[in-house]
Amino acid sequence: MTATIIDGKEFAAKVRGQVAEYVSKIKESHLIVPGLAVVLVGEDPASEVYVRSKGKMTKEVGMKSVEHKLPADVSKEDLYALIDKLNADPTINGILCQFPVPDHLSERDIVARIDPAKDVDGLHVLNVGLLASGQKAMVSCTPLGCLMLLRESLGDLTGKNAVVLGRSNLVGKPVAQLLLRDSCTVTIAHSRTQNLEDVVRSADIVVAAVGRQEFVKGSWLKEGATVIDVGINRIAAPERGEGKMRLVGDVHFESAAQHAGAITPVPGGVGPMTIACLLANTLTAFCRANDLPEPKGLTA
Ligand code: NAP
Repeated sequence: MTATIIDGKEFAAKVRGQVAEYVSKIKESHLIVPGLAVVLVGEDPASEVYVRSKGKMTKEVGMKSVEHKLPADVSKEDLYALIDKLNADPTINGILCQFPVPDHLSERDIVARIDPAKDVDGLHVLNVGLLASGQKAMVSCTPLGCLMLLRESLGDLTGKNAVVLGRSNLVGKPVAQLLLRDSCTVTIAHSRTQNLEDVVRSADIVVAAVGRQEFVKGSWLKEGATVIDVGINRIAAPERGEGKMRLVGDVHFESAAQHAGAITPVPGGVGPMTIACLLANTLTAFCRANDLPEPKGLTA
């Protein structure tokens, strides 16, 4: 079997298009637009690239984009004062603090300071609890992106056997919760799982989020399985020139594509969905804050 490629780049563009269309309608009827604030502490070059790209795409869908750059030695008090101000600002519907932050700051405490209704990263314990108890939550962007790709690729997920590799708070656990919500039979595997290959072989759906390059091999897969590769690993690519790097996922793509029915590539799979879902979440937060109907297909 040669797998169908699940094109995350194309689907993410479609999601951004849906968001833009809804934002334009709101602007016309209510004369307001959703707003997203991104807070960056310090000068990590990779984080600066992410923040720039988030700002650009936020503007492209017609939303208000605000960036706050704080020095690496900003005090906890000053950072919290900014978050409090954004929490109280009715023109801001989503607040995201770009991680990692310098060691003197606590990511957990920063997330806890953000108003859960504006927690578009879905990391606040209230949102984690709401998701786990099957209630309306802000859902973490990468897991939401995985769910959207699976629904797009397979339609109804009811009754599918899903194996999620990885149990992080950021990816593995929320992906598992979302699949459970869509009535999959879910197994979460991790570094202590026994007979991992057999566990993976039982899956109609495999979501790989282990952070290990090309870890899942094609021979582990059930024929026709749908594979979502969340991993982003940078490896040396001497074939592209000295010192060059390339990205690979947590799945060995070439062998997996021989067995899977459908698979996401890296890059161009889950990655582009993360920012698209951040925009979708900001729109959802706006709709909830303003008692407007939520756009269909953009939430869990
Ligand atoms: P993480 O916090 O490091 O968690 C990795 C998980 O994998 C852990 O639960 C760990 O198990 C499990 N694991 C590690 N080695 C394993 C093994 N040999 N067998 C089975 N399970 C194993 O990573 P993360 O934040 O979830 O991220 C996972 C990957 O997704 C990374 O490559 C990351 O770069 C990528 N990512 C991509 C996006 C995106 O936008 N596409 C967003 C976020 C993350 P234990 O709990 O037992 O240690």
